[in-house]
Amino acid sequence: MERARQTAAVRSGIETDAAHGAVVPPVYLSTNYSFAGLRQPREFDYSRSGNPTRSTLAAALAELDGAAGAVVTSSGMGAITATLAALVAPGDVVVAPHDAYGGTWRLLDALARKGAFVLELLDLTAPDAAARIAALDPALVWVETPSNPLLGITDVAALAAATHAADGVLVVDNTFCSPLVQRPLALGADVAVQSSTKYLNGHSDVIGGVITAADADLAEQLGWWANCLGLTGSAFDSYLTLRGVRTLPVRMRQHLENAAAVVAALQGHPGVERLHYPGLPDHPGHAIAARQMEGFGAIVSLEVVGGEPGVAAFLSALENFSLAESLGGVESLVCHPGTMTHAAMPPEVQEAAGLRPGLVRLSVGIEHPDDLIADLLAGLGRAGAAAS
Ligand SMILES: *Cc1c(COP(=O)(O)O)cnc(C)c1O
Repeated sequence: MERARQTAAVRSGIETDAAHGAVVPPVYLSTNYSFAGLRQPREFDYSRSGNPTRSTLAAALAELDGAAGAVVTSSGMGAITATLAALVAPGDVVVAPHDAYGGTWRLLDALARKGAFVLELLDLTAPDAAARIAALDPALVWVETPSNPLLGITDVAALAAATHAADGVLVVDNTFCSPLVQRPLALGADVAVQSSTKYLNGHSDVIGGVITAADADLAEQLGWWANCLGLTGSAFDSYLTLRGVRTLPVRMRQHLENAAAVVAALQGHPGVERLHYPGLPDHPGHAIAARQMEGFGAIVSLEVVGGEPGVAAFLSALENFSLAESLGGVESLVCHPGTMTHAAMPPEVQEAAGLRPGLVRLSVGIEHPDDLIADLLAGLGRAGAAAS
């Protein structure tokens, strides 16, 4: 029987130390490993190519994703870089969401300008997305669901079918969910990437990434590229990330519970002009989200009344949300996409993408929900007073 993800997160790699029977696997900081003799390599020789601590983390992450293999990288962008290097060649068409994570968009755009591939940006949440993919005959389709910051939902199974019909590969950036909320490979994706900086590590103290693949040969190829490009994850970061992964299932349970409580408190509040959360029955992607996710995640976006001055008033009341980019840590964060994560987008492009000046994104942490809700209600009170 396949063990539960909660058990895998806690037990993966436990009591595997042959030297001393250490319960927690030790961190191997050595950069190199001796040969047993001439022509007698051991399992590891050089830590960029392979490291026991990184392998232990990779095994845990592969099991959580139901993957044939996992590659641990030094950042989420490293995972994305290795994936593109392995899977696309000049002349290939790459389809990506028009509202991709900013770093992903920058990399795709810069590589396409150098002729690495032909980039087509589409709204992959639109009903005609599968038909448009079929017409473009892509080598690779990149999906992010829920999207950032408006939490649009893309149907992974439907787009996987359309991509495979074109002999392409479907990659899902699963950073916003983690394998506890969404398992892209089980939905038909070929490859999943994550920034482990976010939920996987969960403590906002390690930058890292991971690629998982449904096919063992593809996983090996991705590992070859990660080593070749020099972007494999460090031993100590791997050790810390595995420490974080141990509690991912219980953290995620609290994240989801708190997000639901926060959404219930914000719903219908006169200080909220729009509320974006895939768990809401009137969210356009709700039915797909209910089918492909387990829970609706813990990122919530809302538009406060009064535009940017309303946001300033709202933020001034928050004691338990830090004004910062990033997401997925135990601590609650609030971000103003218009001036922070999406500041590079000109105002008219933001407006066209639905990013209005009053929009804020919450990464709901695992504090007591009552404290978070009290904060948000106080903030909305100030935003309302400023607007009237
Ligand atoms: C943060 C993030 C990345 C990039 O990961 P880094 O670890 O910062 O390199 C990629 N995709 C998404 C959706 C992210 O949130």
